[in-house]
Amino acid sequence: MEIASARVLVVGLGGIGCPAALALAHAGVGTLGLLDDDEVDETNLHRQILFSEADRGKPKVDAGARALRQACARIEVHATRLLPSTWEIVRAYDIVVEGADNLPTKFLAADVARLSARPVVHGAAVAWRGTVLAVGADGGPCYRCLFEDIPDERAPSCDDAGVMGPVVGVVGALVADRAIRLLRGEGRGSLTTFDGRVGALRERQLPARPGCPLCGPTPAITAIDAERYGGPGCASI
Ligand SMILES: [Zn+2]
Repeated sequence: MEIASARVLVVGLGGIGCPAALALAHAGVGTLGLLDDDEVDETNLHRQILFSEADRGKPKVDAGARALRQACARIEVHATRLLPSTWEIVRAYDIVVEGADNLPTKFLAADVARLSARPVVHGAAVAWRGTVLAVGADGGPCYRCLFEDIPDERAPSCDDAGVMGPVVGVVGALVADRAIRLLRGEGRGSLTTFDGRVGALRERQLPARPGCPLCGPTPAITAIDAERYGGPGCASI
């Protein structure tokens, strides 16, 4: 697909979504959808590079749209979270870029992309380590090949483990790069890890998990069931 005619949905305008959206806009993506229900907080300004002090308290999607207006021809804003009640927004886009900060949203994005036959790029960062997974439109290998389901135990998140601003910047740029590759029909199943302590970047092909509940030959997940993602409120993990 031509980048200039592509419609890309960025889920989460945090430390990963901001640089990813910026890179995609400057790469010439035709339409950028921004989806986030949060407001700009000054404690996040060091890594959420679309925003400035003047944006404090404003909806991230509005501040982000303003920052990207020069670079991207068409920007659409969705002031909501990706939820079991809002996921059909995804159908209006060609590809999903997911930089959410919580596991229920990441799993929901994975399931929605698969069930909508949309490619998706997942980006995550905790402390010095970043991970980027590119999933093709046919759905596999997928996020649930890597992590089968939301863990019962609370996993460390960037809230409690902290995250290095430059690491999320690298992850955001990689997410944008992988999205463009997927739009060109390349890079399906690419799993990239980045270790900011030593600058090590490693890309490998993720093997499909035999019997994966999402992309396997007899998938257990065939519809969006709100209970699977912590209920309608999609409470953080
Ligand atoms: Zn899978």
